[in-house]
Amino acid sequence: MLLNNFFFLFIIGAIIGSFLNVCIYRLPKNLDIVSKRSFCPRCKKNIKWFDNIPLISSLILKLKCRFCKKKISIQYFSVELLSALFLSTALSFTSNFLDLILISLIFYIFIVIFVIDIKYYIIPDSLNFSLILIGILKNFLPATSLNLNQDMFQSLIGGAAGYLLIWIIIFLYKKIKNVEAMGLGDAKLLSGLGFIFGLKSIFIILFTASILGLLYSIPKLLKGKSSLKTAIPFGPFLIIGTVIYYFYLSL
Ligand SMILES: [Zn+2]
Repeated sequence: MLLNNFFFLFIIGAIIGSFLNVCIYRLPKNLDIVSKRSFCPRCKKNIKWFDNIPLISSLILKLKCRFCKKKISIQYFSVELLSALFLSTALSFTSNFLDLILISLIFYIFIVIFVIDIKYYIIPDSLNFSLILIGILKNFLPATSLNLNQDMFQSLIGGAAGYLLIWIIIFLYKKIKNVEAMGLGDAKLLSGLGFIFGLKSIFIILFTASILGLLYSIPKLLKGKSSLKTAIPFGPFLIIGTVIYYFYLSL
């Protein structure tokens, strides 16, 4: 039975991953995410249904478009695989159906934000507002088996402080160094995380994300390839910081 569940959830997860790739491609361009058929980003030819099977088609076509033979980004395969692995192992976090939906929604929004921020240096409001909404609504749910904060006061203060904290950092950097340290997208993201995980979490998440961001930047700084003024997308670090924080809570 467990084995059946694993394969079933793996397949569902891969299909969801394929939808996440559609979101990653279309959300930053303000395209409709449901109506149009999938097409090759290079030659714009419609992708046939049999070339659009999550994970499998990527392997058969060796990450190349059937028509123009141009390389298809490894992102498509990676996102599908990560989604599949997440859902198939999510039962180890919780066996409650509602909790499974809740943690999956949060994680899948994380994936989309992660990739979009790396590619476009933006985080669409629709994604941040979804996290904020989930963060507020979950306070009304019966106690979950997940490590989420469900104290309304902690949650609201966390959401407000998350936004304010990054807003202040942006303001100070602008004043003192005339540098755009982060964007308001990052502020909204940390706000959403504050709503979900509560006040205490945002300081740990921001601290962890900053350390990771610094570690990532140091080799480039040493090589002289970038200066401290070079922007790096901060959203992915906030998300990795959150995942680390979540596992730390679960220990
Ligand atoms: Zn093509």
